[in-house]
Amino acid sequence: MKNSILAYLFACLLLQACDSNSEKTSSSPTISVSAPEKGFIYLDGQFTGYSTPADLKVTQGDHVVGVATEGSKEYFRRELHIDENVDIKMTAADKPAPKVWKALWLGVQEVTGSTQSGHCSSVFSKEELDAGYDFFMWSIEKQFEPFSFHTTKWEVERKDITVPVELHKTSSNWFTLEPDALTELVPEIKPGAYDVVFVFWRESDGTCSFKSPYFGLAWTDPLNEPIKTGYVTIKFDAGDNIQDNINWYKENDPGVWVHEWLHTVGETYFQNRGERMPEKGGDGLVLHAAEKYHYTYPWMDWYSDFMSGQVKDLASPSTYCGIGPEAFLQMSLRESALQQ
Ligand SMILES: [Zn+2]
Repeated sequence: MKNSILAYLFACLLLQACDSNSEKTSSSPTISVSAPEKGFIYLDGQFTGYSTPADLKVTQGDHVVGVATEGSKEYFRRELHIDENVDIKMTAADKPAPKVWKALWLGVQEVTGSTQSGHCSSVFSKEELDAGYDFFMWSIEKQFEPFSFHTTKWEVERKDITVPVELHKTSSNWFTLEPDALTELVPEIKPGAYDVVFVFWRESDGTCSFKSPYFGLAWTDPLNEPIKTGYVTIKFDAGDNIQDNINWYKENDPGVWVHEWLHTVGETYFQNRGERMPEKGGDGLVLHAAEKYHYTYPWMDWYSDFMSGQVKDLASPSTYCGIGPEAFLQMSLRESALQQ
């Protein structure tokens, strides 16, 4: 249905130049959309490819018109029944309340496991966990919220795990921190409580190393997990000075938190909610399709377009896919978990 409306919209836009004297009773009225600053125009949740101010032809009927501002990263929306040409000037009154998304950030002080050199521990101090938490909150402020045009507002709880947590060894000899190991320690993690749990632990400490070829891992179908919650583990190589390493990531490859979180909502969750999402990448993961869609390392534009529904379709470059502000406003993952 949405596709046919869009196809119709774009067909109309092509004809717009020779149709400027359309009558008020036309079956495809014109909406003139403007906002306090330049913004991207959405129609019924889909990015149109147009920016304000612009005139667009739409079908008669109920529509949701949205504008996501380029500079201040705000979202305005109006639901209206359109019968005839109409001016839509977005103002502060059109700003919806953001959808609250809840994260639990778990700082793990000590992980243990059996390595080739024996059973050993890798330990973070309180100050090092503070640095990791600050890095996460920086990402919330610079990426999670603005990439959603502030249609999400993140409430973050932090807990530090002070007892040693035993790592799991996978069949490919990777050390991982599995949800089971933490739900025993943190019984608050249950369906409907959080949208996502982030776990932060130290990859190696002196001669004790749990190195393996990944930085972060995410569980990609949260609503099919017992906790019905997004789950992300970040195995951080703190080196001699954790702050130096965090600063390096901030400058060179700042997307680790948002990347892993997007796996939890961008592989199955929003697809199941009916959003048009990008195709899968070569390894079967949607979030890893960045290159296929012509984005480049460190992929920040990809995360931003993925979250705002502004990824250009491969087959039809005048249509766009991705999550988008309307999808964020509709329902959070934990609300979906409660509905199930
Ligand atoms: Zn990934």
